Amino acid sequence: MDRKNVVVLGSTGSIGRQALEVIGWWPERFRLVGLATNNNIDLLFKQVLKFGVPVAAVTDPAAAGEFEQRCRGRRVTCLQGNDGLSELAGLPEAEIVLVAVSGTAGLVPTLEAIAGGKTVALANKETLVAAGSLVMGAAQRRGVQVIPVDSEHSAIHQCLQQKGGVARLIITGSGGPFRGWKSEQLQNVTPDLALRHPTWQMGAKITIDSATLMNKGLEVIEARWLFGLDYPKIDVLIHPQSIVHGLVAYQDGAVLAQLGWPDMRVPIQYALCYPERIANCLEPLDLSRAAQLTFEAPDLKTFRCLALAIEAGTMGGTMPAVLNAANEVAVTAFLRGETSFLSIPEIIEKTMSRHDLIDSPGLEEILEADGWARQIAGQMLT
Ligand code: NDP
Ligand code: MG
Repeated sequence: MDRKNVVVLGSTGSIGRQALEVIGWWPERFRLVGLATNNNIDLLFKQVLKFGVPVAAVTDPAAAGEFEQRCRGRRVTCLQGNDGLSELAGLPEAEIVLVAVSGTAGLVPTLEAIAGGKTVALANKETLVAAGSLVMGAAQRRGVQVIPVDSEHSAIHQCLQQKGGVARLIITGSGGPFRGWKSEQLQNVTPDLALRHPTWQMGAKITIDSATLMNKGLEVIEARWLFGLDYPKIDVLIHPQSIVHGLVAYQDGAVLAQLGWPDMRVPIQYALCYPERIANCLEPLDLSRAAQLTFEAPDLKTFRCLALAIEAGTMGGTMPAVLNAANEVAVTAFLRGETSFLSIPEIIEKTMSRHDLIDSPGLEEILEADGWARQIAGQMLT
C-alpha cells in the first residue's frame, strides 16, 4: 500500500495530539513528513523523534531558536515563524495537510496547502469563518478537497454522500456547561467554570466558545462554506449527550444522521482516510448505554454569540472576520481574568457595529479587517 505523506499544523494541541495517535495506529498507511507548533517545543521534540519527522516549524521566534539548538546534529530541518508555517503547509512531498492550529493563524497556511495541490483536512474553523469564500474558491479552482474534521461537519459530510435534494443541514451542540442558565446566573462565571465542558475535551479557546455558543455560530458559518447552503437552511439543535453529531434533511422528508461517542479521533481518522473507511480499536457505539437522546432549541437571547455569528455570516464580506477576531480578543481576555463572561458578546457586537463592511474581500482586506477588529476590541478592554 502506498503511504500518504501527512503534515500536521498544530501537532501539540488537542486535535494535533489525537491526530498523531491515529497516525501512530497506521504506520503502513501514513508517513508524517512535517509538524508545526507555536511554542511547545518539548512536546514537538518528542513527536519529531517518535515519528522520525524530517521537517518541523515553530512560529514563536524565541522557541524556534531553542528548538533549532536542540535539533543540532539530527536530520531535522527547522523552519521558523509564520513563513515557516506556510512553507511547511506547501512542502512538496506533503499529500494531506491537517490544519489544527487555533485561530486565524490557520488561514494563510491553508491557502498555501491548497495552492500546493494538497488535500486539506481542516479542523481550524476560524479559517473558513474569516475567509470561507476565498478558501473554498481557491480549492475549487485548484481541484483540491477540503475535508472537515470538526465533528458536526464530518457528520454532515458523511450524511451528504447523496448530493441532490438537500433541504436543510442541522448542526448539533451540547449546549456547553451553562445550558439552561439565564443572564443573571452567567454574571459571575469564572474561566475555571467555563472550561469544564460536559462532553468534549478540547483546547481552551474552543471550550470557551462552546460555553458562549460562539462555537456553534462559527460552525454555522463553516457549514455555509463547506456545503454551499444559505444561512436560513442551516439549523442549530442543542443535544446535551453529544451522540448525534450532525444531520441532513432531504426534500423528500428523510433525515440522515451520523452518531458516535464524542471522540475526535473518529472524524480525524475519517478525514485522513477519506474516501475509505477503516476499522480501529475505538469502542463501538452502544445506544443502550447512551440512555436518552434529547434535543432542544438553542436559547439565542441568553447566548447572544450564536445570534451575532449568524448575523455576521448573513451580512457577509469582512463581517465574519471581524466577529471572529473580536471574539478571539474577548476570549483571551476572559481566560486571563481581564473581562467578564457576559462582556464577550458585548465586545463583539460593539466591534461589529463600528465596522465598514467590504463586500467580496481579498486576502489583504480580510487580514486588514482582522487586525482592525483586534485593535478595536482590544481598546474596549482598557
Ligand atoms: P489547542 O489550543 O489545543 O491547540 C492549538 C495548536 O495550534 C497547538 O499545537 C498550538 O501550538 C498551535 N498554534 C497556535 N497558534 C499557532 C501559531 N500561530 N503558529 C503555529 N502553531 C500555532 O486547540 P485545539 O486542538 O482544541 O483546536 C485546534 C483547531 O481545531 C481550532 O481551530 C478549533 O476550533 C478546531 N477544533 C477543535 C476541536 C477539539 O476537539 N479540540 C473540535 C473541532 C474543531 P502550542 O502548543 O505551541 O501553543
Ligand atoms: Mg464542532
